[in-house]
Amino acid sequence: MRPSKRLSLIPPYLFAQLERKIADKKAAGVDVISLGIGDPDTPTYPPIVAAAQTAVADPSTHQYPSNRGRTDFREAVAAFYARRFGVTLDAETEVMPAIGAKECIFNLSLAFLDPEDVALASDPGYPVYTGGPTLVGASSVLMPLVPSLGFAPDLDAISAEDAARAKLMFLNYPNNPTGAVVPDGLFERVVAFAREHDILVVHDNAYSETTYDGYVAPSFLATPGAKEVGVEVFSLSKGYNMTGWRCAFITGNADAIAQYWRLKSNIDSGLFEAVQLAGVAALDPSVDAEVAAMNDVYKRRRDLVCDALRAAGVDVTPPKGTIYVWAPVPAGYESAAAYCEHVLEETGVVVSPGGAYGASGEGFFRISLTTPDERLLEAVERIRQLG
Ligand SMILES: *Cc1c(COP(=O)(O)O)cnc(C)c1O
Repeated sequence: MRPSKRLSLIPPYLFAQLERKIADKKAAGVDVISLGIGDPDTPTYPPIVAAAQTAVADPSTHQYPSNRGRTDFREAVAAFYARRFGVTLDAETEVMPAIGAKECIFNLSLAFLDPEDVALASDPGYPVYTGGPTLVGASSVLMPLVPSLGFAPDLDAISAEDAARAKLMFLNYPNNPTGAVVPDGLFERVVAFAREHDILVVHDNAYSETTYDGYVAPSFLATPGAKEVGVEVFSLSKGYNMTGWRCAFITGNADAIAQYWRLKSNIDSGLFEAVQLAGVAALDPSVDAEVAAMNDVYKRRRDLVCDALRAAGVDVTPPKGTIYVWAPVPAGYESAAAYCEHVLEETGVVVSPGGAYGASGEGFFRISLTTPDERLLEAVERIRQLG
């Protein structure tokens, strides 16, 4: 068997070694608490499940969906964007379902990049921003997210040559893994940059509904001119506890969406219509209260984690959004990975090394808040005692 060269270009899974260590610890009887993965521990909200149960029982959902999506799904998205973000969308041409944001983000690389092209990728960032370009035979140029700029990329630092070759730019706010919310003026600067260099901006919106302290996250598409240069990929996975459902959509530039549609008609057969109907239920205003209650839970967990880290001498900034706490590695460790290994070894708690999300993540570690309060408390207490 000879796998493709492009597949062998993907770096080895950075958590592979960690997973082996976790398995060894568990086998040795250690009570391992994993704060590594961002996957909500709370069930999908009841009205969404109820709508899906009805939809699954309806034989009209059992046939092939269309890649374009149900009209009611696209209209629900347009209504949600108007209500939530003040963004007007044409449900006919500016919305399409996706089988999760991951599928969509990957396929945009396939739809827009040739071998000589590059994608500008936020670093640290979601691994598909670099894995996608690599797998389609193109390449990526990392845009370091600068802590002193509020984790914005410095667009002036992008070379003229890279800007000229770039056809895509991947951005994500509220940001995984840093927890940063979009710095003032960044989206405006991105629109101007994309116009100047003819780049399609892909704003990965996985966390706009998961925010704290009164912060309300905007849509990239609310920025003047954004729809001319960009798309937004909205995922229901995190905000609606729907990671297993694979429910997302792409909105924004109609020409870009038409290319994505053209590509997908050669790859998959669309999003199960019962899942689209679950998405319609999720985006209904009646579910806002469930989302708000969930955010109260994450806020409590965020504070519990940040208080414990501070007590352990870690200088952490509580995030205004996302389900992650991004904290600097204490002095005395040669790398984030070395610190995370030490934490696992000494306490049985799994936290993610920042370097796993890109070179600029080095020096930080990430704690996911998707663990029940008592377990989270137990985990941070063990880390606090480690000092
Ligand atoms: C979780 C996550 C995704 C994946 O979303 P799916 O819709 O579940 O594929 C995409 N981007 C970021 C930044 C994420 O954290």
